[in-house]
Amino acid sequence: MEKFKVFVARKIPEIGTEMLKKAGFDVDVNEDEEKVLTKLELIEKVKNKDALLSLLTDKVDEEVLSSAENLKIVANYAVGFNNIDIDAATRRGILVSNTPGVLTQTVAEHTFALMIAAARRIVEADEYTRQGKYRAWGPLLFLGMDLNGKTLGIIGLGRIGKAVSKIAVRGFDMKVLYYDKFKDEAFEKEYNAEDTDLETLLKEADFITIHVPLLSSTKHLISFNEFKLMKKGAILVNTARGSIIDENALIDALENKRIAGAALDVFECEPEISCDHKFPHQLKGFDNLILTPHIASASIETRGKMAELTAQSIIDLAGGKTPQNVVNTEALKK
Ligand code: NAD
Repeated sequence: MEKFKVFVARKIPEIGTEMLKKAGFDVDVNEDEEKVLTKLELIEKVKNKDALLSLLTDKVDEEVLSSAENLKIVANYAVGFNNIDIDAATRRGILVSNTPGVLTQTVAEHTFALMIAAARRIVEADEYTRQGKYRAWGPLLFLGMDLNGKTLGIIGLGRIGKAVSKIAVRGFDMKVLYYDKFKDEAFEKEYNAEDTDLETLLKEADFITIHVPLLSSTKHLISFNEFKLMKKGAILVNTARGSIIDENALIDALENKRIAGAALDVFECEPEISCDHKFPHQLKGFDNLILTPHIASASIETRGKMAELTAQSIIDLAGGKTPQNVVNTEALKK
């Protein structure tokens, strides 16, 4: 086993750092839980390192990669890897790994938490109750929407999209429509799910949930025209990546009541809630919009497993083994 020098870009669950230390590596951790390193700080830190354990908040671009002569692996603590320039890493023979699978169910559960909270107006009702406004039970007080028997449109029927469908069909007797690059006939049969084009999905779904990765083909996949197709009573949930929804189009849809509500775990200009700094409260201002700070995978169990997976990728490579979740296998040829 090679003695790797590893930089861990933010404090992660201890189990991961312990694994790296036990492997005999020289481990440098950014201990400040809220500090995202600047590009220059990251460059300085990875300069002489063999491995980088990165977070989705670290932009690992050409400049960072080219400054790290010894770098052999970037183990990303996420399933999405749009924060890394994969082509640049591949050209340099640097492996990039991610953490698929272990977070699937946790993200699906958060997606449902958001969907139910939006449909039943849980956040508004909580605030109302805390503010002492609850005077009497009322037949018309905080009327929401049932999920049971409704149509759920899933954009991206991958690991997370499928886990969401299972909860929808088995737990809520929902009808599932999906839009994906690939057809999955076995899944369709088992869950009575229907493969459609995006337009049909947007027109027919009562709830729409996004589970595609952020790619050039999915950036602003949901924009002005797409909101126009949605039902007035539709609720949109995004736990994938912020830029898949055009934020201006979402603001327009909420302002003009084109949809009933939305719930977001991710934002176009994260950690800013709105991209336009002149109007930072634009998205925050809507009662029918629920916001969570990118916590869909944030369960104690799952974050521990993500720490183990990323650490194991680095350990495997140092021991001469191909790590399990390499996203740029072409880099292995170099
Ligand atoms: P996955 O790769 O299993 O599924 C993605 C699906 O999208 C695939 O079925 C793929 O065919 C489909 N797809 C890709 N491009 C498409 C396109 N242009 N049009 C239609 N379909 C397309 O990934 P996953 O594990 O299900 O994760 C999905 C995404 O969720 C990740 O890429 C990540 O960005 C996001 N995510 C967010 C959090 C969070 O904390 N909020 C946590 C985990 C994952």
